[in-house]
Amino acid sequence: MNNNSILWSNILEKIKNELNSLTFEVWFEETELYELKNGVAKILVPYAFHKKHIKENYTKLITSCFIEELGEPVELEFVIQEEIEEEEILPEETPKNNDIIYEEKENSNFESNLNRKYTFDNFVVGNTNKFAHAAALAVAEKPGAMYNPLFIYGNSGLGKTHLMHAIGNYIEKNSNKKVLYITSETFVNEFIEITRKKENKSDFANIDFFKKKYRGIDVLIVDDIQFLAKKTESQKEFFHTFNDLYGDEKQIIISSDRSPNDLKIFEDSLRTRFNWGLTVNIYPPDFDLKVAILKRRINAENIDVPDNVVEYMASNIGTDIRSLEGSLYRLVAYSTMMGADINLDLAIEALKDNINSGYSEKNDVGRVQKVVAEHFNISIEDLKSKKRNADIAFPRQIAMYLCRKHTDESFPKIGIEFGGKDHSTVMHSCEKIEQEIKNNKSLAEEIEKMEKDLHN
Ligand code: ADP
Ligand code: MG
Repeated sequence: MNNNSILWSNILEKIKNELNSLTFEVWFEETELYELKNGVAKILVPYAFHKKHIKENYTKLITSCFIEELGEPVELEFVIQEEIEEEEILPEETPKNNDIIYEEKENSNFESNLNRKYTFDNFVVGNTNKFAHAAALAVAEKPGAMYNPLFIYGNSGLGKTHLMHAIGNYIEKNSNKKVLYITSETFVNEFIEITRKKENKSDFANIDFFKKKYRGIDVLIVDDIQFLAKKTESQKEFFHTFNDLYGDEKQIIISSDRSPNDLKIFEDSLRTRFNWGLTVNIYPPDFDLKVAILKRRINAENIDVPDNVVEYMASNIGTDIRSLEGSLYRLVAYSTMMGADINLDLAIEALKDNINSGYSEKNDVGRVQKVVAEHFNISIEDLKSKKRNADIAFPRQIAMYLCRKHTDESFPKIGIEFGGKDHSTVMHSCEKIEQEIKNNKSLAEEIEKMEKDLHN
């Protein structure tokens, strides 16, 4: 942690005490102190709408926290990632205060880096993660004895980090074993730092520190091992660390975005070792697991979200749990901003950027079909049928035209949604209705009315 992140986490701690937990999560959880310079604190927030809301509601609170921490006021500026990237210059290679940090760490109590927030208790189990969960629990109950190493892999946002912290927290709570959680990036960075010092022959104490740190522990958790990939020297160091720990029957837990066999840039010797224990895959959540996770979150935070909104989110939001949770926060933030209760329409509006295209477009087509069918008092099946009588064919053409105009669907896709019509049929319908609107005022008005219904 650098100075800014320490300062900011102290401030967040204070802010957290002042707000209820949901408000805190929505508005502050993902913030960072990006820079503190010339009396200006640049605070990084996730979305543009955070800027205005935080500024208007929490400036006083944040400022007073800064005063408590620094003894003087600062000016606040809120930025989003894109704005920083525009002005970003490559950072200097190593921060100057590294020596101090190392000494501090050595003298202070051992730090496991575990995030207490992630436990087995709040990990929801479903079909797609139950094997990974069971393996994790087995390792937590008997570290070093059963499966060594435990290798968990799967796409981003599926709960790997959560599970690993859960193992670590469980072990710490139920034994006096020393657990260390690191990302492979941390490992590489520390390794580079120590090698640099060694070359300068300046501080050999640090090398001892390094060895002690990694080899004096009982459980080593290494997250996102794929980032170790290209750094051959640190791979070697990791290899030694692995061997030592393994030889002493210390538990090793590793995660990656791909299976050991797909970690192609790794030395064979390491890949083989990753397969010595148990390798588990964690899959994208199915509908039921998504619903369960959302409901758990909603209950824990005591927010009012109707079931149909939960189902809408579970079937329309991407395949990872991180974006699922992100959408829930976004929805809550949106409803706070609008001063409106959460219902399906609000959710559709709030989440339109988060919805993965396939589903949302399908839903939009469905919506058009519903509005048109109701307007003409026919059924949606009729719209999708092959019936050619005018009182069905004409509404069908209008529905196709409206789909083209109000969804992002292609002609072929629209054809599919109307019972498998050819794309040329859809094109023809759209052209025909466009022409007719120009010449037929009452039709134009009728269609306008349907368009209004679409947006209600
Ligand atoms: P990964 O490390 O695989 O990218 P994370 O462990 O960081 O994913 O999970 C992303 C978010 O989703 C976290 O907030 C985590 O708590 C949550 N999460 C993932 N899986 C579950 C689950 N089964 N139950 C509850 N929360 C979960
Ligand atoms: Mg992770």
